[in-house]
Amino acid sequence: MKAKIIKIVSNQYTIYTEDNKEYVASARGILRLGDKKPVVGDEVDYQIDSDRAMIGNIYPRKNQMIRPKIANVDQAIVVMSAHEPDFSTSLVDRLCFLISHANIEPVILVTKMDLVSENDEILNIIDDYRKSNFKVITTGADDSIVEALKPVLKDKISVLTGQSGVGKSSLLNRINPELQLNTQIISKALNRGKHTTRHTELHEIFQGLIADTPGFSALDFSKMDAHELALSVLEFRPYLQKCKFNDCIHENEPGCAVKEAVLAGKVSKIRYTNYLDVLKTIKSKRKYWG
Ligand code: GDP
Ligand code: ZN
Repeated sequence: MKAKIIKIVSNQYTIYTEDNKEYVASARGILRLGDKKPVVGDEVDYQIDSDRAMIGNIYPRKNQMIRPKIANVDQAIVVMSAHEPDFSTSLVDRLCFLISHANIEPVILVTKMDLVSENDEILNIIDDYRKSNFKVITTGADDSIVEALKPVLKDKISVLTGQSGVGKSSLLNRINPELQLNTQIISKALNRGKHTTRHTELHEIFQGLIADTPGFSALDFSKMDAHELALSVLEFRPYLQKCKFNDCIHENEPGCAVKEAVLAGKVSKIRYTNYLDVLKTIKSKRKYWG
């Protein structure tokens, strides 16, 4: 029978089964060693022997996040407020590039829509993301988000991301008051950058699993080259093979299919601009490090 690991405390594994039950399981000794050490999110086979659950096998992972350490993440929900702080397409796009690079689907959740006026620029921005095929959910001070999130979370492992102040904790609290966001507590008083973290856990909500630790907080592009970056921009993908030069990085090259798609309005100008910004950062690093 199949289950997912939702919590690990030393050698005790809490699993969530296909028929929505939770057990505390042990793992065969061999599984606890080396590379194949179970992590939260792992899909496993289990058996129940005289009331004890035992994990027998771990399935290959479709992806694995390092911070928090979770495998098989289906989607990362990028939370960004419409205002206070103002919506930043640059931040949202950077997060989405990193999320896509990690082989995870990005979903955009815009909070604080109650602060949006009739002709607010944010409405055009939301349209732009939807036109680019992003799944965008919006929420304000009311409770409509609960219904909106149900179909999104169902049957999936989700991780939240987004800068502080955008409303992530409020959101989780509205879905389930027992859920608290596990952010790193940095001990400023000691000024040693010391931080304590609880263990990451997946919580069952609306028949899906959501991590209590936000991800993608580092915005680290240092391990990506220009071509990996271009591949991480989902709406570039249909055009990447059509550029005149096969090492095109879609900047100033002639015959660039991506740039043509931007000019033809098939690819968002916002996305392209934000891509060029990250590209600049990546290229400037190359200059120093060869
Ligand atoms: P986090 O740092 O991302 O976890 O953000 P919080 O959940 O702590 O929210 C930051 C602030 O935004 C708090 O003062 C919340 O009350 C406020 N807030 C959260 N959601 C909304 C919303 O939908 N509308 C408005 N107006 N304020 C919100
Ligand atoms: Zn190109």
